[in-house]
Amino acid sequence: MKITFPHMGNVYMIAKCLLDEFQLDYVIPPFQSKKTLEIGTRYTPEGACLPLKITVGSLIEAAELGADTALMVGGAGPCRFGYYCRMQQEILNDIGCNMEIITLEAPNGDAWELLRRIKRVTKGMNIPKLIRVLTQITRLSIQIDEIEKICLRNRSYETVKGTTNRIYQEFRVQAFTTAGVKEFKKLIKETRSKLQKVSLNLDQKPLRIGIVGEIYGNIDPYTKMFLEQRLGEMGIYVHRYVTISDWIVEHIIKKELRLPRKKPYAAAARPYLNTMIGGHAQETVGHTVMYAEQDYDGVIQIYPLGCMPEIVAQGILPRVSVDLDIPVLTLIIDEMTGEAGYMTRVEAFIDLLQARRKITLDRSRAV
Ligand code: SF4
Repeated sequence: MKITFPHMGNVYMIAKCLLDEFQLDYVIPPFQSKKTLEIGTRYTPEGACLPLKITVGSLIEAAELGADTALMVGGAGPCRFGYYCRMQQEILNDIGCNMEIITLEAPNGDAWELLRRIKRVTKGMNIPKLIRVLTQITRLSIQIDEIEKICLRNRSYETVKGTTNRIYQEFRVQAFTTAGVKEFKKLIKETRSKLQKVSLNLDQKPLRIGIVGEIYGNIDPYTKMFLEQRLGEMGIYVHRYVTISDWIVEHIIKKELRLPRKKPYAAAARPYLNTMIGGHAQETVGHTVMYAEQDYDGVIQIYPLGCMPEIVAQGILPRVSVDLDIPVLTLIIDEMTGEAGYMTRVEAFIDLLQARRKITLDRSRAV
């Protein structure tokens, strides 16, 4: 059995540590590229959402490297994610790709079935080891997100533009050859120390933008066309609530263990959207309200074309924008999205935010 998994941001770091700890044979697909998207688009239905196309492309690239088993997490709720594993399996079967997809979830709450699947993958069942490794990789996911958070802050204040991006890119590449939790902790420590040494000009008052939207487009740098890096290099402070560790802790662990989940966004979204409608729509609305309450300069919503929950959120955001006086830009991405047009819209939005900032400053000086 040669295992793989599709890319989604830094999830490969966590999956890799897990597989290393159990000494399993695996292949990490190459980082997503135009080729990945082309392959995925060729074999998925035209109307499928972008993450399905990219993940199918990623799995086919892994199959070309010898993978025969793919691990996926399941999804529930009124959104297509719940069908991903089934669709990926059907698509791979149709094109004659010999790969089995194992969904790591408890179907209809059947915890024994989940344990049976884990036992199959790990070739045995060592419960204490499983709990220890799962705890370790959950902590790692939090530390990886902390590295991302430092990068988001550093980029807007750094004196030599590009320094943080270089360190972050090195971190992502070195992660490919780092084996197991212990080595990975060392890599995180070294990266954190490099990031803390980056020269910053903290006297600047950068524009502050919150990023909201569907999880794959939010977390995965390739899918959002490296938006956060680009904004950072333009001297803009970027914040995002949707992270991998939040997804692992709140959406996977707590869901499977039926523990109460933290949902500050739900209370914030209540006047506009008071129920979960699938995907991250409620988070999108709630986080936009939270950014407005924290006086952020603007919010960018990013989501894949055809994403049902985010279309609903997009319809609500103009009301939030007017009520709470916060500009919102919506970016919809698919395989046809051109980089130049995408960045032109982002730059025009930044111009608008700068003009608003100047008007506010002029008014406060005039008082
Ligand atoms: S949240 Fe949107 S993009 Fe993601 S799987 Fe659901 S419908 Fe597709």
